Amino acid sequence: MGQDVARWLKGYDPNQLTIATAVSHSSLQIFHGAKAEGFRTLAISAGDRDVRYYDAFPRAKPDRILKLPKYTDLLGLAEELRAENTILIPHGSLVEYLGPDNYINLGLPIYGNRAVLHWESDRDKQREWLEAAGIRMPRKVSDPTDILEPVIVKYHGAKGGRGFFIAKSYHDFKRHIQEGQPYTIQEFVMGTRYYLHYFYSPLVPDGYAVTVTDAKGKEVAKGSLQMLSIDRRDESNIDEMNRLGSLKDMDEIGIAPTFVVTGNIPMVIRESLLPEVFRMGEAVVKEAYKRFGGLWGPFCLETVVTDKLEFRVFEISARIVAGTNPFIGGSPYSEMVEPNLSTGRRIAKEIKLAALSGRLPSILG
Ligand code: AMP
Repeated sequence: MGQDVARWLKGYDPNQLTIATAVSHSSLQIFHGAKAEGFRTLAISAGDRDVRYYDAFPRAKPDRILKLPKYTDLLGLAEELRAENTILIPHGSLVEYLGPDNYINLGLPIYGNRAVLHWESDRDKQREWLEAAGIRMPRKVSDPTDILEPVIVKYHGAKGGRGFFIAKSYHDFKRHIQEGQPYTIQEFVMGTRYYLHYFYSPLVPDGYAVTVTDAKGKEVAKGSLQMLSIDRRDESNIDEMNRLGSLKDMDEIGIAPTFVVTGNIPMVIRESLLPEVFRMGEAVVKEAYKRFGGLWGPFCLETVVTDKLEFRVFEISARIVAGTNPFIGGSPYSEMVEPNLSTGRRIAKEIKLAALSGRLPSILG
């Protein structure tokens, strides 16, 4: 795939790039940022999805909307879109709509490293990567009979907060588990959640400089790490359960907690935790370059901070997360980097810099 991307880019006009993404998720933010940086924009939509809401946001409305019967039709349109110098910005919904195999095989330059998907989507590989980077994750419970404190059971492939349940004992686990579905069990970490939005640029060593090497110790890039914003997800129904009483009361009336993301809330974190925020981000990036060719652009560590002020990371997202959406006009953190800098705009700036300096092949995968 790497070879193909380099070949496709030879035919690209770096002054006439089109930034494309699928409607939904963070598309308004991606288009808003791309338009602010002077790019042409293309939305990809499928089925009978209503896209009229774009009309309400003229500064984010894409220049063109490509309506397809289904997302997988994109595979057959790659050549046509390459002729328009199209670069695809992936987000969680796009990967989900296409399915992992189609996403990996899509014949378009994608911003970021597509190989990361293998490491991110498999919970065991994700743990291997993060723990090798010295990140503390929630303890894994291998045998359900060992459930002695609250745990969260996650079915494989669970997404967007669906497919989880909390168990406080083996009895509880037996009561809820759906037989035949593979799952993992981890400690339910008590604390407060922070979803940290990072951006690693392998192009610019300014700021919090991070030099990365490959597995053999050879330097591959001298770049820099930013932490552009922090959110907390608003999850239904767990986040407002206390309105009806305690979890125990809920259990008694037969309501189980669910974790379906419905929105996002802006957050800031204690300043004394920032050294650890950057240490974790740097370690994850460095390990990614050693293991699978790197992690660049936006990524998010989903964390819980305990009352001992320790982080536990329960998940990584290796692309723009919807939690960056409250910050289209910038965040308290990005304000100290540059005014009005959203993650979407940061992506557009990176692509612009790479295009102007002949380095697109090093940030597109
Ligand atoms: P995930 O899909 O892994 O991001 O998990 C969905 C939601 O479940 C998260 O946003 C958290 O609210 C919650 N969650 C996941 N893992 C844990 C954990 N180990 N401890 C506490 N809460 C968790």
